[in-house]
Amino acid sequence: MQERFCDMLRGLFSQENSSSSRALTYRIRTYGCQLNESDSEKMAGIFEKMGLAEDESDKPGVLLLNTCAIRENAEDRLFGNLGFWKTLKTDNPDMLIVLCGCMTKLNEDLMRIKRSFSYVDIVFGPQDIHRLPEYLYRRLSTGEKIIRVSDDDYMPDDYDLPASRKRKFRALVPIMYGCDNFCTYCVVPYTRGRERSRDFGKIIEQLRELSTSGFREVMLLGQNVNSYGRNVAGSPDFPDLLERISGLNLFSRVRFMTSHPKDLSNRLIDIIAENPCIERHLHLPFQSGSNDILRRMNRGYTRERYLETALRFRESVPEGTISTDIIVGFPGETENDFTDTLNLMNEVRFDSAFTFIYSRRPGTVAADMSDAVPEEIVAERFSRLLELQNSHCLESNRSVIGSTQEVLIEGTSHTNDTVFTGRTSSNRLVNFTIPDGTMIDSEPIRLDSDTGNRIEGRFASIRLLKAKTFSIEGRLENFTDGR
Ligand code: SF4
Repeated sequence: MQERFCDMLRGLFSQENSSSSRALTYRIRTYGCQLNESDSEKMAGIFEKMGLAEDESDKPGVLLLNTCAIRENAEDRLFGNLGFWKTLKTDNPDMLIVLCGCMTKLNEDLMRIKRSFSYVDIVFGPQDIHRLPEYLYRRLSTGEKIIRVSDDDYMPDDYDLPASRKRKFRALVPIMYGCDNFCTYCVVPYTRGRERSRDFGKIIEQLRELSTSGFREVMLLGQNVNSYGRNVAGSPDFPDLLERISGLNLFSRVRFMTSHPKDLSNRLIDIIAENPCIERHLHLPFQSGSNDILRRMNRGYTRERYLETALRFRESVPEGTISTDIIVGFPGETENDFTDTLNLMNEVRFDSAFTFIYSRRPGTVAADMSDAVPEEIVAERFSRLLELQNSHCLESNRSVIGSTQEVLIEGTSHTNDTVFTGRTSSNRLVNFTIPDGTMIDSEPIRLDSDTGNRIEGRFASIRLLKAKTFSIEGRLENFTDGR
């Protein structure tokens, strides 16, 4: 960890305290996936190490935007927000704007940032987050703008980066970085580099520390967790890792994402079935139900192989749920291809799904495919797909109404602070009320605007009363210990 630069920055901040209007605060805006969120937690930890405090206002001393390039709309949102921050910087010229994340690795985006957003002070890539103190120090001590985007095969374990974790209940733990699959529509192999698995022993050591510090749930992260250890001679694989974590009984819940159908083994499904602490849920993107489209996407499996895996999970973990990712409108997609997608959805009946319209990504193989599907056809197919998927979501939630299930409480619902929210071990979202007089730690619970904060990370038995498409309404019966 760049201790030296952190020390020099602390010195520099104390010197400029009288002369600069810059607050000793930071604000991070994270776009995209949980791997980005995990990177942001590390950068928050680094900022706090150099003496800055978090500040959600519009006048932070340092604003960091951790970007995502997975789809065009993520980029458009960032460029839109950059315009907003420009006005704020005009009122607060000492504020520093820092840009990092996957967009910085795409040439078109980097050129645009250099050309049109000259008020951005520092730009670095997803493989450079450990250099944040150095770049901040150089920007402040020399006044020069910093644009440094490397292709290093960076591994955070090599830098012992502190993390300022956002959630009290769930710890995000990347087990690997990068991807070697080169699906033809995806930029991740170009933005996050080649697959690198973290050392097995270091992961276990970190999990022990997180468990000791009170985390009840861990989310193991990777672009393709099923290939964990594949590129390290003699390394245990992902089923080994899950089996070891379960055996150590460190957490009430062990979650993981993202899986890849071509690498997901029957042994993994057996280990999930045998270990109740592993979530009763599988996120398994299928993208398309057509073998021709799967070939053009370079996904590396057939619809038959996918169905075999999904149905084997349903059989082995009957109370489990399956979510997926689906792309509509991939170049060359015919009505028959789309029908194959709908048919596969009817066979698996996904409990939830992330649905996307194909987004052309510069530099990918698919970007040069000529046979684009007309927008109006894509839009019509997308609405048929949503209608079908929403009916499956509702059907799935209806299937558990009347049961009582244990929920890990995540806090207060976004829309009503007398309603609380959490997830079952099968990843169902539950919004629930707490009857007056409910006991917690042998005391009647105090229901006020801060209750959600106080019970975040606790477990409770919830009676499931009413199904909605994307959530379930319930009533708390009693608090539990989650073991
Ligand atoms: S598996 Fe495919 S879609 Fe997933 S990150 Fe890798 S290249 Fe992208």
